[in-house]
Amino acid sequence: MHCISNSRDMGSLSGRICSCTICPLSISRKNAVPGEGPVDATIMLVGEAPGRDEDQLGRPFAGRAGAVLSRSLEAAGIDRQALFITNVVKCRPPENRRPLASEIQACLPYLHRQMELVQPRIVCLLGNVPCNALLGCEGVTKMRGRLYQDRYFVTFHPAAVLRNRNLEMLLISDFRQIASL
Ligand code: SF4
Repeated sequence: MHCISNSRDMGSLSGRICSCTICPLSISRKNAVPGEGPVDATIMLVGEAPGRDEDQLGRPFAGRAGAVLSRSLEAAGIDRQALFITNVVKCRPPENRRPLASEIQACLPYLHRQMELVQPRIVCLLGNVPCNALLGCEGVTKMRGRLYQDRYFVTFHPAAVLRNRNLEMLLISDFRQIASL
C-alpha cells in the first residue's frame, strides 16, 4: 500500500517536473528529465544534469555517458533497472555547461522529495556537482570510494571516463564497493 501511494506520488512529482518553469532552463530544454527507477530502490544514483541525448529522450543517462554507466554497473554486478537514477538539475543547461548555483537551488527541492519517496539506503553522487549540492563540498578524486553521513557515496561522473579511460576501472571498483555495502 505504502509503495503504491509512493508510486502515485512519484508519478505526480515527475509530472510537475516535466511542466516546471521555475528556472530559465525551462526555456531551452526540449524535455525535462525527472529520473526513473523503482520507487523502493535501495540505491539512488544522482548525476549532474541531462545532456543532449537525455534532453531529446526525456530519460537519464541515455547517451554515451549512460553507456559507460550501464557497462560499469554491469561489471560490478549491479542491475541498472533496480536503481533509481536522476540528476541534481532536471533540465539541460545550454551547451552542457555546469548548472548555475541559482538553477541548482531552484531544482534541488525536487531531488529532496525524490529521496523522501524512495528512501534509498545509498545515494551515490556522480561527480562534483551532486557532491557539492548534497554535501556542500567537492573534490571527487579525494572523496571517492567512501560513505558520508552513513548514506552518501561519492564517485566519478561517467562522463569523466569518456575524457579519461583510466577512470573506468576506478568507477567499477567504486560500484563494486557499493554492491558490498
Ligand atoms: S531545471 Fe528544475 S527548476 Fe529549472 S525548470 Fe527544470 S525542473 Fe524546473
